[in-house]
Amino acid sequence: MGSAWRVPHKGWHCVDVIDLRADGESADETDYATCQMCGNEKIRYVHIMEHPDLDENFDVGCVCAEKMSGDYSGIWHRTRPARQPSPARSPTPSGKAARCWR
Ligand SMILES: [Zn+2]
Repeated sequence: MGSAWRVPHKGWHCVDVIDLRADGESADETDYATCQMCGNEKIRYVHIMEHPDLDENFDVGCVCAEKMSGDYSGIWHRTRPARQPSPARSPTPSGKAARCWR
């Protein structure tokens, strides 16, 4: 790699997940983010990742978040809407973060 900046691939901790699309908003209207780890564009669910060796947090998509944290079960349940609460949504989605992309 040759870069002085080396990002650890393991040991990350997901501190927050933000849903960028408000209820009722269409896919075209959504202000997507870009994954800081792999550069994938159009992340709807931004996972805020923290690492004990780094000062900076990373904003990544769900795929990278799962790999980085090694946690394939708990991430989805921490998701919260960024702009407004959505009481109508099921409080306990089953399974892992299968709805992460779009
Ligand atoms: Zn990614």
